[in-house]
Amino acid sequence: MYTGHAMDCVFCKIAAGEIPTTAVYQDRQIYAFADIHPKAPVHILVIPREHISSLAETGAEKRALLGHLLGVAAEIARQKGLAKGYRVVINSGEEGGQTVDHLHLHLMGGRQMTWPPG
Ligand code: 5GP
Ligand code: ZN
Repeated sequence: MYTGHAMDCVFCKIAAGEIPTTAVYQDRQIYAFADIHPKAPVHILVIPREHISSLAETGAEKRALLGHLLGVAAEIARQKGLAKGYRVVINSGEEGGQTVDHLHLHLMGGRQMTWPPG
């Protein structure tokens, strides 16, 4: 599995600062920024800096990173004041509705969510 910086991957470029965005959170492994087409008043994308194409491509060696992504989402939700609740979504693969092939977690809040998602 290739886990470096993928050429022509928009989220690799964002994580590397080659496409400017405002960081909502960042550390050595993770970068978080606002979705360009927000579907809720708060819509943040949380991504690993390394190129991982989807959740389906992760194995046991990525479990700590996946836990870190989820924990960071909860921390951002607290910072954004989403005390009434929020939703975390990972779309994986074509039928999962994934459109950018770099693993990302959606953090959405600030309105009532509906179930099931489409
Ligand atoms: P997916 O459908 O793959 O789960 O989600 C991809 C998300 O990335 C979409 O919500 C889309 O609006 C967002 N997105 C795609 N390209 C860009 C970009 O260049 N900048 C930012 N900030 N968000 C993007
Ligand atoms: Zn990438």
